[in-house]
Amino acid sequence: MGEKRIYLASPHMGGCEESFVKNAFETNWIAPLGPHVDGFEKEVASLVGIKSAAALYSGTAAIHMALKYLNVSKGDIVFCSSLTFSASCNPIIYEGAIPIFIDSELNSWNMCPEALSQAFEECEKNNILPKAVVVVNLYGQSADFDKITEICNKYKVPIIEDAAESLGAKYKGKYSGTIGEFGVYSFNGNKIITTSGGGMIVSNNEVAIKKIKFWSTQARDSERYYQHSELGYNYRLSNVLAGIGRGQLQVLNQRISQKKHIYETYRKQFSDIEEIEMMPIAKYGEPNYWLSVITLKEWSKVKPIDIILELEKENIEARLVWKPMHLQPYYYKNKFYSTKNHNESIAEDIFNRGICLPSDTKMTEEILLKVIQVIKNQFNR
Ligand SMILES: *Cc1c(COP(=O)(O)O)cnc(C)c1O
Repeated sequence: MGEKRIYLASPHMGGCEESFVKNAFETNWIAPLGPHVDGFEKEVASLVGIKSAAALYSGTAAIHMALKYLNVSKGDIVFCSSLTFSASCNPIIYEGAIPIFIDSELNSWNMCPEALSQAFEECEKNNILPKAVVVVNLYGQSADFDKITEICNKYKVPIIEDAAESLGAKYKGKYSGTIGEFGVYSFNGNKIITTSGGGMIVSNNEVAIKKIKFWSTQARDSERYYQHSELGYNYRLSNVLAGIGRGQLQVLNQRISQKKHIYETYRKQFSDIEEIEMMPIAKYGEPNYWLSVITLKEWSKVKPIDIILELEKENIEARLVWKPMHLQPYYYKNKFYSTKNHNESIAEDIFNRGICLPSDTKMTEEILLKVIQVIKNQFNR
Protein backbone atom coordinates (compact mmCIF):
# COMPACT_ATOMS: atom_id res chain seq x y z
CA MET A 1 0.00 0.00 0.00
CA GLY A 2 1.23 3.49 -0.82
CA GLU A 3 2.26 5.84 1.97
CA LYS A 4 0.59 9.06 0.88
CA ARG A 5 -2.94 7.89 0.23
CA ILE A 6 -5.40 7.98 3.12
CA TYR A 7 -7.33 4.74 3.35
CA LEU A 8 -10.66 3.67 4.68
CA ALA A 9 -8.86 1.07 6.77
CA SER A 10 -5.45 -0.47 6.12
CA PRO A 11 -3.05 -2.78 7.98
CA HIS A 12 -1.64 -1.23 11.15
CA MET A 13 1.04 -3.30 12.83
CA GLY A 14 1.55 -2.92 16.55
CA GLY A 15 5.23 -3.82 16.78
CA CYS A 16 5.25 -7.37 18.17
CA GLU A 17 4.15 -9.10 14.96
CA GLU A 18 7.66 -9.38 13.55
CA SER A 19 9.01 -11.16 16.59
CA PHE A 20 6.32 -13.83 16.29
CA VAL A 21 7.12 -14.20 12.59
CA LYS A 22 10.85 -14.28 13.35
CA ASN A 23 10.22 -17.08 15.80
CA ALA A 24 8.40 -19.02 13.08
CA PHE A 25 11.43 -18.61 10.80
CA GLU A 26 13.93 -19.53 13.52
CA THR A 27 12.09 -22.74 14.30
CA ASN A 28 11.46 -23.32 10.56
CA TRP A 29 7.80 -23.58 11.45
CA ILE A 30 6.77 -21.89 8.21
CA ALA A 31 4.13 -24.53 7.54
CA PRO A 32 1.92 -26.35 8.13
CA LEU A 33 -0.07 -25.24 11.14
CA GLY A 34 2.24 -25.08 14.18
CA PRO A 35 2.44 -23.42 17.58
CA HIS A 36 1.38 -19.94 16.45
CA VAL A 37 -1.82 -21.36 14.98
CA ASP A 38 -2.60 -23.13 18.26
CA GLY A 39 -1.61 -20.03 20.24
CA PHE A 40 -3.67 -17.69 18.07
CA GLU A 41 -6.76 -19.90 18.39
CA LYS A 42 -6.41 -20.14 22.17
CA GLU A 43 -5.82 -16.41 22.56
CA VAL A 44 -8.83 -15.40 20.47
CA ALA A 45 -11.04 -17.99 22.20
CA SER A 46 -9.99 -16.81 25.65
CA LEU A 47 -10.40 -13.14 24.72
CA VAL A 48 -13.99 -13.56 23.56
CA GLY A 49 -14.81 -16.26 26.10
CA ILE A 50 -15.63 -19.26 23.94
CA LYS A 51 -14.57 -22.90 24.13
CA SER A 52 -12.89 -23.50 20.80
CA ALA A 53 -11.65 -21.94 17.60
CA ALA A 54 -10.18 -22.93 14.25
CA ALA A 55 -7.88 -20.55 12.38
CA LEU A 56 -8.64 -20.64 8.66
CA TYR A 57 -7.27 -18.83 5.64
CA SER A 58 -10.25 -16.51 5.33
CA GLY A 59 -13.49 -15.44 6.90
CA THR A 60 -15.23 -16.71 3.79
CA ALA A 61 -13.82 -20.21 4.39
CA ALA A 62 -15.06 -19.97 7.99
CA ILE A 63 -18.63 -19.20 6.84
CA HIS A 64 -18.38 -22.06 4.34
CA MET A 65 -17.35 -24.53 7.05
CA ALA A 66 -20.14 -23.37 9.39
CA LEU A 67 -22.72 -23.96 6.65
CA LYS A 68 -21.24 -27.35 5.84
CA TYR A 69 -21.35 -28.39 9.48
CA LEU A 70 -25.00 -27.37 9.64
CA ASN A 71 -25.59 -29.69 6.72
CA VAL A 72 -26.63 -26.98 4.31
CA SER A 73 -26.89 -28.69 0.94
CA LYS A 74 -28.42 -28.65 -2.52
CA GLY A 75 -31.84 -27.06 -2.65
CA ASP A 76 -31.84 -25.87 0.97
CA ILE A 77 -32.59 -22.28 1.82
CA VAL A 78 -30.55 -20.03 4.13
CA PHE A 79 -31.56 -16.59 5.40
CA CYS A 80 -28.89 -13.88 5.27
CA SER A 81 -28.67 -10.14 5.93
CA SER A 82 -28.95 -8.22 2.66
CA LEU A 83 -26.83 -5.22 3.64
CA THR A 84 -23.40 -6.86 3.70
CA PHE A 85 -20.37 -7.92 1.72
CA SER A 86 -20.91 -10.76 -0.77
CA ALA A 87 -18.72 -13.16 1.24
CA SER A 88 -21.57 -13.47 3.80
CA CYS A 89 -23.74 -15.33 1.28
CA ASN A 90 -21.45 -16.69 -1.47
CA PRO A 91 -20.61 -19.83 0.55
CA ILE A 92 -24.37 -20.64 0.60
CA ILE A 93 -24.05 -21.02 -3.18
CA TYR A 94 -20.86 -23.10 -2.79
CA GLU A 95 -23.03 -25.69 -1.06
CA GLY A 96 -25.75 -25.54 -3.71
CA ALA A 97 -28.24 -23.84 -1.39
CA ILE A 98 -30.34 -20.73 -1.98
CA PRO A 99 -29.90 -17.49 -0.01
CA ILE A 100 -32.98 -15.50 0.93
CA PHE A 101 -32.20 -11.95 1.94
CA ILE A 102 -33.51 -10.06 4.94
CA ASP A 103 -33.76 -6.26 5.25
CA SER A 104 -32.09 -4.03 7.83
CA GLU A 105 -33.61 -2.13 10.73
CA LEU A 106 -32.91 1.54 11.37
CA ASN A 107 -31.48 1.11 14.89
CA SER A 108 -28.30 -0.67 13.92
CA TRP A 109 -28.58 -1.23 10.15
CA ASN A 110 -28.43 -4.95 10.93
CA MET A 111 -30.97 -7.71 10.26
CA CYS A 112 -34.51 -6.55 11.05
CA PRO A 113 -36.25 -8.96 13.46
CA GLU A 114 -39.66 -8.07 11.98
CA ALA A 115 -38.60 -8.86 8.44
CA LEU A 116 -36.98 -12.06 9.73
CA SER A 117 -40.23 -13.10 11.42
CA GLN A 118 -42.15 -12.45 8.26
CA ALA A 119 -39.70 -14.54 6.23
CA PHE A 120 -40.05 -17.43 8.70
CA GLU A 121 -43.85 -17.24 8.67
CA GLU A 122 -44.02 -17.35 4.90
CA CYS A 123 -41.52 -20.15 4.57
CA GLU A 124 -43.34 -22.18 7.19
CA LYS A 125 -46.54 -21.81 5.19
CA ASN A 126 -44.69 -23.24 2.20
CA ASN A 127 -43.40 -26.10 4.35
CA ILE A 128 -39.76 -25.20 4.03
CA LEU A 129 -37.60 -23.77 6.80
CA PRO A 130 -34.08 -22.38 6.34
CA LYS A 131 -31.18 -24.59 7.43
CA ALA A 132 -29.41 -21.60 8.98
CA VAL A 133 -29.57 -17.83 9.39
CA VAL A 134 -26.43 -15.80 8.63
CA VAL A 135 -26.62 -12.67 10.78
CA VAL A 136 -24.07 -9.97 9.95
CA ASN A 137 -22.68 -7.51 12.50
CA LEU A 138 -22.22 -4.59 10.16
CA TYR A 139 -19.36 -2.08 10.34
CA GLY A 140 -18.38 -3.31 13.80
CA GLN A 141 -21.79 -3.28 15.50
CA SER A 142 -23.81 -6.26 16.73
CA ALA A 143 -27.26 -7.08 15.47
CA ASP A 144 -30.09 -7.22 18.03
CA PHE A 145 -29.50 -10.82 19.07
CA ASP A 146 -32.09 -11.16 21.85
CA LYS A 147 -34.87 -10.62 19.33
CA ILE A 148 -33.21 -12.54 16.51
CA THR A 149 -32.32 -15.53 18.73
CA GLU A 150 -35.85 -15.73 20.08
CA ILE A 151 -37.26 -15.97 16.56
CA CYS A 152 -34.65 -18.51 15.40
CA ASN A 153 -35.14 -20.62 18.54
CA LYS A 154 -38.86 -20.73 17.93
CA TYR A 155 -38.19 -22.45 14.60
CA LYS A 156 -35.11 -24.32 15.92
CA VAL A 157 -32.86 -22.85 13.24
CA PRO A 158 -29.19 -22.17 14.12
CA ILE A 159 -27.49 -18.79 13.71
CA ILE A 160 -24.13 -18.21 12.05
CA GLU A 161 -22.82 -14.92 13.33
CA ASP A 162 -20.81 -13.12 10.66
CA ALA A 163 -18.57 -11.09 12.94
CA ALA A 164 -15.95 -10.55 10.22
CA GLU A 165 -16.09 -6.80 10.85
CA SER A 166 -16.84 -6.80 14.56
CA LEU A 167 -14.08 -8.55 16.53
CA GLY A 168 -13.97 -6.97 19.99
CA ALA A 169 -17.48 -5.47 19.83
CA LYS A 170 -20.01 -6.42 22.49
CA TYR A 171 -23.73 -7.14 22.69
CA LYS A 172 -25.12 -6.80 26.25
CA GLY A 173 -21.69 -7.66 27.61
CA LYS A 174 -21.13 -10.65 25.33
CA TYR A 175 -18.45 -10.58 22.69
CA SER A 176 -19.53 -10.35 19.10
CA GLY A 177 -19.19 -13.77 17.46
CA THR A 178 -20.05 -15.75 20.59
CA ILE A 179 -23.85 -15.62 20.43
CA GLY A 180 -24.68 -17.73 17.39
CA GLU A 181 -24.02 -21.47 17.06
CA PHE A 182 -20.92 -20.35 15.14
CA GLY A 183 -19.07 -17.04 15.04
CA VAL A 184 -16.83 -15.97 12.19
CA TYR A 185 -13.96 -13.46 12.22
CA SER A 186 -11.90 -12.12 9.33
CA PHE A 187 -8.29 -10.95 9.40
CA ASN A 188 -8.33 -9.58 5.88
CA GLY A 189 -6.14 -6.49 5.29
CA ASN A 190 -8.92 -3.97 5.86
CA LYS A 191 -10.34 -5.46 9.08
CA ILE A 192 -9.67 -4.15 12.60
CA ILE A 193 -6.73 -6.54 12.96
CA THR A 194 -5.14 -8.42 10.10
CA THR A 195 -2.92 -11.38 9.26
CA SER A 196 -2.69 -10.09 5.65
CA GLY A 197 -5.42 -12.63 4.96
CA GLY A 198 -7.06 -15.01 7.35
CA GLY A 199 -10.13 -15.93 9.31
CA MET A 200 -11.39 -17.86 12.29
CA ILE A 201 -14.44 -19.85 13.25
CA VAL A 202 -15.41 -20.05 16.93
CA SER A 203 -18.00 -22.07 18.82
CA ASN A 204 -18.83 -23.62 22.16
CA ASN A 205 -19.43 -26.81 20.22
CA GLU A 206 -15.97 -28.40 20.48
CA VAL A 207 -16.99 -31.43 18.46
CA ALA A 208 -17.98 -29.15 15.59
CA ILE A 209 -14.70 -27.24 15.63
CA LYS A 210 -12.75 -30.49 15.66
CA LYS A 211 -14.67 -31.70 12.62
CA ILE A 212 -14.10 -28.38 10.85
CA LYS A 213 -10.36 -28.65 11.47
CA PHE A 214 -10.49 -32.13 9.91
CA TRP A 215 -12.33 -30.95 6.77
CA SER A 216 -10.05 -27.91 6.49
CA THR A 217 -6.89 -30.04 6.35
CA GLN A 218 -8.00 -32.15 3.37
CA ALA A 219 -10.11 -34.58 5.43
CA ARG A 220 -7.33 -37.11 5.85
CA ASP A 221 -8.36 -40.25 7.70
CA SER A 222 -5.92 -41.42 10.36
CA GLU A 223 -4.18 -44.05 8.25
CA ARG A 224 -0.54 -44.39 7.21
CA TYR A 225 -1.52 -43.86 3.57
CA TYR A 226 -3.64 -41.03 2.21
CA GLN A 227 -7.19 -42.13 2.68
CA HIS A 228 -10.28 -39.96 2.44
CA SER A 229 -13.75 -40.93 3.55
CA GLU A 230 -15.01 -37.38 3.21
CA LEU A 231 -14.56 -34.37 0.95
CA GLY A 232 -11.71 -32.16 2.16
CA TYR A 233 -10.63 -28.54 1.84
CA ASN A 234 -7.29 -26.79 2.13
CA TYR A 235 -8.52 -24.02 4.40
CA ARG A 236 -6.08 -23.74 7.33
CA LEU A 237 -4.10 -20.63 8.26
CA SER A 238 -0.30 -20.82 8.03
CA ASN A 239 1.90 -20.64 11.11
CA VAL A 240 3.65 -17.50 9.79
CA LEU A 241 0.36 -15.63 9.36
CA ALA A 242 -0.95 -16.81 12.72
CA GLY A 243 2.20 -15.20 14.17
CA ILE A 244 1.13 -11.86 12.72
CA GLY A 245 -2.30 -12.45 14.25
CA ARG A 246 -0.87 -13.03 17.74
CA GLY A 247 1.01 -9.75 17.52
CA GLN A 248 -2.08 -7.93 16.25
CA LEU A 249 -4.23 -9.31 19.05
CA GLN A 250 -2.05 -7.43 21.54
CA VAL A 251 -3.16 -4.11 20.04
CA LEU A 252 -6.84 -4.92 19.44
CA ASN A 253 -8.07 -2.84 22.38
CA GLN A 254 -5.86 0.05 21.37
CA ARG A 255 -7.26 -0.10 17.82
CA ILE A 256 -10.82 -0.07 19.18
CA SER A 257 -10.13 3.10 21.21
CA GLN A 258 -8.50 4.73 18.20
CA LYS A 259 -11.45 3.80 15.97
CA LYS A 260 -13.85 5.16 18.58
CA HIS A 261 -11.91 8.40 18.73
CA ILE A 262 -12.20 8.74 14.94
CA TYR A 263 -15.98 8.14 15.11
CA GLU A 264 -16.40 10.60 17.98
CA THR A 265 -14.37 13.26 16.18
CA TYR A 266 -16.55 12.97 13.07
CA ARG A 267 -19.65 13.07 15.25
CA LYS A 268 -18.63 16.25 17.06
CA GLN A 269 -17.35 17.99 13.96
CA PHE A 270 -20.47 17.24 11.93
CA SER A 271 -22.94 17.96 14.72
CA ASP A 272 -23.92 21.33 13.27
CA ILE A 273 -24.35 20.10 9.69
CA GLU A 274 -28.00 19.20 9.36
CA GLU A 275 -27.50 17.16 6.22
CA ILE A 276 -25.20 14.66 7.95
CA GLU A 277 -26.21 11.83 10.28
CA MET A 278 -23.79 9.37 11.89
CA MET A 279 -24.45 5.64 11.68
CA PRO A 280 -26.65 4.95 14.73
CA ILE A 281 -25.13 3.20 17.75
CA ALA A 282 -27.73 0.93 19.36
CA LYS A 283 -27.97 1.16 23.17
CA TYR A 284 -27.65 -2.58 23.70
CA GLY A 285 -23.97 -2.80 22.86
CA GLU A 286 -20.56 -1.36 22.27
CA PRO A 287 -19.22 -1.51 18.69
CA ASN A 288 -15.57 -1.78 17.73
CA TYR A 289 -16.14 1.25 15.47
CA TRP A 290 -14.41 -0.52 12.56
CA LEU A 291 -15.67 2.04 10.02
CA SER A 292 -17.18 5.47 10.60
CA VAL A 293 -20.19 5.74 8.33
CA ILE A 294 -22.48 8.70 7.69
CA THR A 295 -25.71 9.15 5.78
CA LEU A 296 -26.86 12.31 4.08
CA LYS A 297 -30.46 13.43 4.49
CA GLU A 298 -32.69 12.73 1.53
CA TRP A 299 -33.12 16.44 0.83
CA SER A 300 -29.40 17.18 0.89
CA LYS A 301 -28.19 18.88 -2.29
CA VAL A 302 -24.78 17.31 -1.73
CA LYS A 303 -24.86 13.61 -2.65
CA PRO A 304 -22.57 10.81 -1.40
CA ILE A 305 -20.76 10.61 -4.73
CA ASP A 306 -19.91 14.35 -4.55
CA ILE A 307 -18.13 13.82 -1.25
CA ILE A 308 -16.35 10.70 -2.47
CA LEU A 309 -15.07 12.48 -5.60
CA GLU A 310 -13.98 15.55 -3.64
CA LEU A 311 -12.01 13.40 -1.19
CA GLU A 312 -10.54 11.46 -4.13
CA LYS A 313 -9.03 14.72 -5.43
CA GLU A 314 -7.02 14.86 -2.21
CA ASN A 315 -6.01 11.20 -2.52
CA ILE A 316 -8.36 10.24 0.31
CA GLU A 317 -10.39 7.07 0.03
CA ALA A 318 -14.11 7.02 0.88
CA ARG A 319 -16.71 4.59 -0.38
CA LEU A 320 -20.38 3.96 -0.70
CA VAL A 321 -21.98 1.61 1.80
CA TRP A 322 -22.17 -2.10 0.77
CA LYS A 323 -24.59 -2.53 -2.10
CA PRO A 324 -27.33 -4.79 -0.70
CA MET A 325 -27.22 -8.39 -1.90
CA HIS A 326 -30.79 -8.36 -3.17
CA LEU A 327 -29.78 -5.62 -5.62
CA GLN A 328 -26.72 -7.46 -6.94
CA PRO A 329 -26.94 -8.69 -10.54
CA TYR A 330 -25.85 -12.14 -9.35
CA TYR A 331 -28.53 -12.36 -6.64
CA TYR A 332 -31.24 -10.34 -8.33
CA LYS A 333 -33.64 -13.28 -8.59
CA ASN A 334 -33.30 -14.33 -4.95
CA LYS A 335 -36.16 -13.58 -2.61
CA PHE A 336 -35.93 -10.57 -0.31
CA TYR A 337 -38.00 -9.66 2.74
CA SER A 338 -38.16 -5.93 3.32
CA THR A 339 -39.16 -4.23 6.52
CA LYS A 340 -42.86 -3.39 6.54
CA ASN A 341 -44.17 0.15 6.14
CA HIS A 342 -41.05 1.28 4.39
CA ASN A 343 -41.46 2.27 0.75
CA GLU A 344 -38.15 1.07 -0.52
CA SER A 345 -36.08 -1.30 1.57
CA ILE A 346 -34.13 0.13 4.49
CA ALA A 347 -30.94 -1.53 3.19
CA GLU A 348 -31.43 0.19 -0.16
CA ASP A 349 -32.10 3.54 1.47
CA ILE A 350 -28.89 3.27 3.51
CA PHE A 351 -27.00 2.29 0.36
CA ASN A 352 -28.34 5.34 -1.48
CA ARG A 353 -27.45 7.81 1.25
CA GLY A 354 -24.43 6.31 3.03
CA ILE A 355 -20.71 7.02 2.86
CA CYS A 356 -17.91 5.07 4.59
CA LEU A 357 -15.35 7.63 5.73
CA PRO A 358 -11.61 7.15 6.25
CA SER A 359 -11.26 5.24 9.53
CA ASP A 360 -7.62 4.29 9.33
CA THR A 361 -5.99 4.20 12.76
CA LYS A 362 -2.72 5.43 11.25
CA MET A 363 -4.31 8.82 10.48
CA THR A 364 -2.88 11.67 12.54
CA GLU A 365 -5.25 14.17 14.17
CA GLU A 366 -4.15 16.69 11.55
CA ILE A 367 -5.08 14.40 8.68
CA LEU A 368 -8.41 13.50 10.27
CA LEU A 369 -9.24 17.21 10.58
CA LYS A 370 -8.23 17.73 6.96
CA VAL A 371 -10.64 14.98 5.86
CA ILE A 372 -13.35 16.65 7.90
CA GLN A 373 -12.62 20.06 6.38
CA VAL A 374 -12.86 18.71 2.81
CA ILE A 375 -16.32 17.37 3.70
CA LYS A 376 -17.40 20.54 5.49
CA ASN A 377 -16.38 22.60 2.45
CA GLN A 378 -19.06 20.73 0.49
CA PHE A 379 -21.63 22.26 2.80
CA ASN A 380 -19.93 25.70 2.76
CA ARG A 381 -18.79 25.43 6.38
C1 LIG B 1 -14.54 -9.22 5.17
C2 LIG B 1 -15.85 -9.84 5.31
C3 LIG B 1 -16.05 -11.21 5.10
C4 LIG B 1 -15.03 -12.11 4.49
O1 LIG B 1 -13.84 -12.23 5.13
P1 LIG B 1 -12.53 -12.64 4.31
O2 LIG B 1 -11.53 -12.93 5.38
O3 LIG B 1 -12.15 -11.46 3.48
O4 LIG B 1 -12.86 -13.85 3.49
C5 LIG B 1 -17.30 -11.74 5.37
N1 LIG B 1 -18.31 -10.99 5.81
C6 LIG B 1 -18.17 -9.66 6.01
C7 LIG B 1 -19.33 -8.89 6.53
C8 LIG B 1 -16.95 -9.04 5.74
O5 LIG B 1 -16.83 -7.72 5.92
